[in-house]
Amino acid sequence: MTAQLAFRDVARGRLLQARLEQAMGRASQPVTVMHVCGSHEQAIARYGLRARFPSNLLVQMGPGCPVCVTDAPEIDACVALAQQGLRIVTYGDMLRVPGRAMSLEDARARGARVDVIYAATQAADIARGSDEPVVFFATGFETTAVATAAVLLSNPPPNLFVLSAHKWVPAAMDVVASAPDTRIEGYLAAGHAATITGHGVFESFVAKYRRPVVVAGFEPLDILAGLVLLVEHVLDGSATVVNAFPRCVKREGNRRAMDALFRVFEASDGEWRGIARVSRGNLSLRAAYAAHDASVRFAAKLAAAPAVAERADASECRCGGIMMGLQKPTDCRLFGKACRPEAPVGACMVSTEGVCRIWHEHGLADAEGSP
Ligand code: SF4
Repeated sequence: MTAQLAFRDVARGRLLQARLEQAMGRASQPVTVMHVCGSHEQAIARYGLRARFPSNLLVQMGPGCPVCVTDAPEIDACVALAQQGLRIVTYGDMLRVPGRAMSLEDARARGARVDVIYAATQAADIARGSDEPVVFFATGFETTAVATAAVLLSNPPPNLFVLSAHKWVPAAMDVVASAPDTRIEGYLAAGHAATITGHGVFESFVAKYRRPVVVAGFEPLDILAGLVLLVEHVLDGSATVVNAFPRCVKREGNRRAMDALFRVFEASDGEWRGIARVSRGNLSLRAAYAAHDASVRFAAKLAAAPAVAERADASECRCGGIMMGLQKPTDCRLFGKACRPEAPVGACMVSTEGVCRIWHEHGLADAEGSP
């Protein structure tokens, strides 16, 4: 049997589902857990897993969509540089995310130069082929931050400037866990990020909040197996870190990648869209990389940008409550009406990793929207 078939084994899936039901059968009240990754939500939706969860198990998506948590003023800053004539390159998902006044796509429609790239190395290649400044609007969590760091450690062209909106997920988990009204009893952590950070990164979190963390992969059986372990640990009152993705994740992670990440970046406080100001949740370029830091090089342009106000319907958006595990997409009255993938009001409806878009595209509002 190939590895792929082993991860899609129907019989094993049924056994895991039965074990999940058996575990939840001993729960005296509903259990709420959170997965902290848009890729987990995609897999849950694609394989129809949510419909198979026991009705007393609530699985919420947390702040695990990098596009969703990029703060509107961060987008405004990039829009301002674009409107002042600088060439911008960024990942495709960022184009349509609304800033307070407009998105990068809106700016492009008005003549700004904004190009989509698929990898950080492309930003360096574009700069090498140009004699003008190129600003790389660098977004995403640990996984993409490592790629940005690698570019800056590899003799980057002098005309490459990084506008960093990178974020560090474990810091946001702290915010969710410390929220006074949180219902989250355990966390399913993203296997790809843990491949870099290692599962050891969650040990202090577990010790502090006395909640289990299970690291899981992205095949449907990975997710089911991770949820089974998570629920069992929640119900046993066992606060520990479990690595349910050992084929890729080690306790110490990828040390070379982590070294590269923190040679280039340092943790700083920053806003996560709709959530909170997250202590040490942003990744800012270290002073040693100031020559490539767009926020330093273009500080005067950023300061000269006109003030912008939030669009009127933004206050209706419930992305923050959803990513904190307090609400679900169908709790937002704009869901599927004023806010749709082709006309997003909030960031969670833009990205393929955004929970509102995932629920909308998979029709989960009717079928599974009321767990
Ligand atoms: S449906 Fe749109 S406006 Fe509502 S929470 Fe989701 S992204 Fe925000």
